[in-house]
Amino acid sequence: MLELLFLLLPLAFLSGWQTAKKRYTRAQSQKRQLSDNLVKGINFLLDEQPDKALEVFLSHPEIDEYTAETYLLLGNMFRNRGEVDRALRVHQNLISRPSLAKEQKVAAMLAYGEDFFAAGMLDRAEGVFNELIKNNSGDMQACGTLRSIYEQLQDWDKAIEVSLCAEKQTGTDHSRIIAHYYCELAEQEFDKGNIHLVEEYIKSAQKSHKKSNRVLVLQGDLESRKNKPGAALKYYQKAVNNDSRLVGLLDKKLIEATRQLGDIENLCDFLKKLLGKTEDQKILEYWAGLTLRYGQDKHPAEALEEEVKKYPSTRALLDLIKLWKLNQESALSLQRLDLLEQVLEQHLKTQTEFQCHHCGYKMNDFLWRCPACHHWDTVA
Ligand SMILES: [Zn+2]
Repeated sequence: MLELLFLLLPLAFLSGWQTAKKRYTRAQSQKRQLSDNLVKGINFLLDEQPDKALEVFLSHPEIDEYTAETYLLLGNMFRNRGEVDRALRVHQNLISRPSLAKEQKVAAMLAYGEDFFAAGMLDRAEGVFNELIKNNSGDMQACGTLRSIYEQLQDWDKAIEVSLCAEKQTGTDHSRIIAHYYCELAEQEFDKGNIHLVEEYIKSAQKSHKKSNRVLVLQGDLESRKNKPGAALKYYQKAVNNDSRLVGLLDKKLIEATRQLGDIENLCDFLKKLLGKTEDQKILEYWAGLTLRYGQDKHPAEALEEEVKKYPSTRALLDLIKLWKLNQESALSLQRLDLLEQVLEQHLKTQTEFQCHHCGYKMNDFLWRCPACHHWDTVA
């Protein structure tokens, strides 16, 4: 019996070796075929025949980790070129492959959701990202895009929910953005006149981000609504003191509150001190405008001239010209100043007031979130 076993041993070895060889040969042949298909597909792409390329890529039954990566990139390339239909076909095909590793499946799902997002099919994108988050708790990228979707839909409650979930799962800090969401809710209720809810949302925003300047602005608005200009002014001044770019948003509110208090000189002093502290050209422009309109300084033109020398600004120069004109009696000089004024006014008409310092997008109104790059707190 033992002899028979010894005789069978080489046979078993031979059979095993042959099976392994067959498998290896098959795998090699598949790899070669995959590689051939890849080259064929890429050639079609280079010939600007994307549909033929898709046919080659998608009709192949087998896929390995390398080709999966290529498919992913291919789909992303289609999306970046604005060909979202093709991107969706590639990523959908990839997701349906049972042989896909978990990591690649997640990447394909993310890409699939991004395709829907790019196509503006927000509900479909939301569905994909929610499923991703459910199955891969706290997937950062899915949370990020889902937040963008809710921001776009202005569904601030859900935006808060997904941000809190992401914070809990990944430990990343979204407190500043969450405070903005609460402020958005507060503004919505402000417009409806639900002051009690406004106060609730302001509290939540403050709890989320204690240093939020937007909260200060809202608190000022609330005091102003209650006919308390003194309290409103304090909040507005605190906000501008913390962040001088807010003067563009608050200048009218600052003037209105100060005017109600009958103390415009106080605002001029405040802006002048702030100018010294920040050396911000914009502060000079608002101060110059105020000086021109209210002329509190004994010699407003001389005072403004000094500042314009220090912080050259076209808008402030225009106000200075207007001040010079007030004290000018010579007809010729007045004519020349008129000309200068007209040229500067024409030039300033082509300039926008605000710009996003992240993407450079220009706009006429101050916004807390840039409409182009969707970043918060980047408009100045
Ligand atoms: Zn931007």
